[in-house]
Parts: sequence; structure tokens; C-alpha cells
Amino acid sequence: MANPVLVATWPFGLAAVRVGSEVLTDGGTAMAAAIAAVSHTEADPEVDSVGYGGLPNSAGVVQLDAAVMDGRTGHAGAVGALEGILHAVQVAEAVMRDGRHVFLVGSGAKRFALEHGFQEQDLLTENSRNWFKEFQRTGIKKDFFDTIGVLALDTHGDLATACTTSGLAGKMPGRVGDSPLIGGGLYADNEAGAAAATGVGEDILKICGSFLVVELMRQGRSPQEACQEVVRRCIRHQQRETSTQCCFIACNRQGEIGGASTRKGFQYAVWKGEQDSLIEAPFFGGEF
Ligand code: ASP
Repeated sequence: MANPVLVATWPFGLAAVRVGSEVLTDGGTAMAAAIAAVSHTEADPEVDSVGYGGLPNSAGVVQLDAAVMDGRTGHAGAVGALEGILHAVQVAEAVMRDGRHVFLVGSGAKRFALEHGFQEQDLLTENSRNWFKEFQRTGIKKDFFDTIGVLALDTHGDLATACTTSGLAGKMPGRVGDSPLIGGGLYADNEAGAAAATGVGEDILKICGSFLVVELMRQGRSPQEACQEVVRRCIRHQQRETSTQCCFIACNRQGEIGGASTRKGFQYAVWKGEQDSLIEAPFFGGEF
């Protein structure tokens, strides 16, 4: 029996890991725990970067990106630019279970969701409508747009990961970041570890960030060392010290965890057994 672990991006990840911990404590799988955890964040209207209440694109439409990956089987599912469906992560899971494809986008993803019993709903809240009115008036985008990414290790020693986001607020319609790209926003392999990313998707996906973290763990790096090395790669790739914000979390089968970011201000939540806590990640780029 392994000691179960959950790791989640950002302070709102604390509530998510608490939900996921109930699944793991009951002997549930890492995949079920990761999905339960991020589903909780999707339903929270206070989190304006995920699911219900997530900020819309430049056309006033909420487009969601989500993915899941099972470290035991290597199976994965993802959706991009999905409109009008709250639990994008559960649609990603349905894509994985369906098994014919890995990644569905736009109207095709929505059609798949409706065919699989998901209900259409308005994802805008009073807050996100007001934000959009202001955005139309001023053209000012919101800089922070935080994805919930969760890594889970269950009592059987299996790893899984799930993530979901409304992406960059005010983004171009059809823009998809790193989050639903397997190897970009997340990756899991029981033999090496699991990783997830948050931050500027364009810069994370150009270095296959989450895949790279997992491959470095496969080569013997600890989760912390692997995250730091990938953050340094982000900075080198952008050829400047003050790179955009790119953040990674990682976990291996021994329950060791890690996290790092290019810039100051990235925190991630951890649950191990009875305890949960918020960790301030070390950063290697600029202070702003
Ligand atoms: N990585 C996400 C994206 O680019 C956003 C975030 O995590 O902050 O869509």
C-alpha cells in the first residue's frame, strides 16, 4: 500500500485536494481523485480562470480546455475550446474512456459531450459579464489566468493527472494553450512520475513542459530537480531572465513532490495523509 498524495496548482488547489483526498482515503483511484478535485474547482464561481465563472474570450464566450492522463495505462483524453459545458475535465475523461480519439475540439467536442449526456449551460456569471463589459470598454486583458492542475498518487501506487482552464482571459477565439495538450499541460507515466503546468501556455507548450519534467524524473532527477530544470529551460528558451510566468508541479511514485516557476508568486497545494499545506515555489526568473 502506497501513501496517497495529491498536488494541485495555486491556492485554490487546497480546496481541490481536500475533495480529492476523500476519494483516495476511500481507496479510490488516482484518476478518480484527480477528476473529482478539478471538477470541484470547475464548479466554483469564485475561481475566474476555470469552468463556471471563468473569464471569456474576446468574443465574450467562455472556451474551456481540459485533459486527463492515467499513469497506469498511459491512456489520455482532452478537449479544447469547448463551449457551454461546465465539467470539461469530465468530457476529457469520456474521450479517454471512449478510446477512439485523444483530443476533440470546438463544436465536435461539444457534440461529443451532448451525445454522452452532458448538459449545456451558461458559464458566464455576473462577475465575468462585468469583466467582459470592462474589457470591451478598455481592451485591457487580465494578466493572470490560472489553470487547476492536479497530480494524484493512490494507495495502489498508481499516478494520474487532470487539468482544466478557461485559459487566457480575453484570448482570441479558438486559442488553445498548453493545458489540453498531452505533454504540454500535463503528463503521467507510472514508471517515471506525473507533472502538470500552469502559466503562459504558448511558452509551456513550445518546450513540451510537462513531458520534459516527467522525462527528467525518468532519468533520475527528483520531482523538485526536474521542475527547476524545466523552468530554467523556459528561461533559456525565451532568452531572457524575466521570462513569462511558467510553473510546474511534479510527483513520483515514492510520493516525493516538487514545484518551481519562472517568476515569483506561484504557490501549490499538497495533501499527504492527514495534512494539507500550501507551498511557495522557488522561482528562477524575474521578481515581478
Ligand atoms: N496555461 C494556461 C493557458 O495558457 C493558463 C494558465 O495556466 O494560467 O491557457
